[in-house]
Amino acid sequence: MDESQLTIVVPVFNEEQIIRETYRRIHNVVNQTPHEIIFVNDGSTDHTLEHLADIALKDPRVKVISLSRNFGHQLAVTAGLNYAKGDAVILMDADLQDPPEMIPQFMETWRQGYDVVYGIRRHRAGESPLKRFTAFAFYRLLRHLSEVDVPADVGDFRLMSRRIVDMLNNMPEQHRFIRGMVSWVGFRQIGIPYDRDSRFGGESKYPFHKMWRFSLDALTSFSVEPLRWVRRGALAVSGLAFLASIWLIRQKLAFPHSLVLGWTSTMVTMLWLGALQLGALGIIGEYLARVVEQGRQRPLYVVAQTINVDDDEKSMSPPYPGERRTDKRGHAVDFDRNSVL
Ligand code: UDP
Ligand code: MG
Repeated sequence: MDESQLTIVVPVFNEEQIIRETYRRIHNVVNQTPHEIIFVNDGSTDHTLEHLADIALKDPRVKVISLSRNFGHQLAVTAGLNYAKGDAVILMDADLQDPPEMIPQFMETWRQGYDVVYGIRRHRAGESPLKRFTAFAFYRLLRHLSEVDVPADVGDFRLMSRRIVDMLNNMPEQHRFIRGMVSWVGFRQIGIPYDRDSRFGGESKYPFHKMWRFSLDALTSFSVEPLRWVRRGALAVSGLAFLASIWLIRQKLAFPHSLVLGWTSTMVTMLWLGALQLGALGIIGEYLARVVEQGRQRPLYVVAQTINVDDDEKSMSPPYPGERRTDKRGHAVDFDRNSVL
């Protein structure tokens, strides 16, 4: 075994029922390897943080980054990546849907010279048909529209080399679709199929509205194709409107005195035009909202406290947007470990 260090990043949101089991399973796999496990507590409102603090107390290789509120899975992962020091970094969910036992295989492939080793979900146990269908459709649509090649049925369960993580840490986007960003970086990437287990315990923390936001982020970050639909739609409708006007004027000239009960045609035209305009505005609005939010240059997340993390550790990883390394303006208030307990 060489001395390269491994970091495992695990975002955690209200997982008090399973977090100890998650730790135990990961620990069993990586015990013999130099490693750190970074749990990012994403504003849990249950006893997750107490469990994490307790685990970290007994195992100094466990680090806890606790965010000031729920920032969402992708930002929690981002925080973990900012703190990760490993030569290889593994992302995995806390619910054991992604088996930690795959880690050695990921590392083996990484040693063969791959920069990214991701898991391809072959089966998805214990997920509703609706979730499976929406996921299926989402990945296909994204692949169809996206400017970079984002592999289908691939989640965030993956190993990334140091240089990939460094690149991600330097990408300032606020709406982060991490797996797309990883594809964007490039280098040698490879997938390994695996069967996705059902959740070890607890409920999915991804209700429909979060999934919806997530897919909008993915689509708007990796495709401007919907903006082109607006233009094409506008063009098509203008064409139709032009032809229709010619026809209407001709009718009027041919039968000047006939009584035209134009209500139906008027309503139909109005409704369709209205729908199209609103739809187009909606799409433009989605992109515009992202421009506005990016323009604000806010930090991506706020750290409330850390456990087993040295003060200078964060600054060893590249900064995130808006961060000044000299002063810790606005983001990191590091209490000592005792304040958790
Ligand atoms: N998670 C998080 N913040 C959130 C939602 C989820 O950190 O706002 C974590 C959660 O604890 C889990 C991972 O992200 O470790 C994936 O969430 P989940 O298993 O609920 O998603 P699903 O597998 O159902 O898509
Ligand atoms: Mg899950």
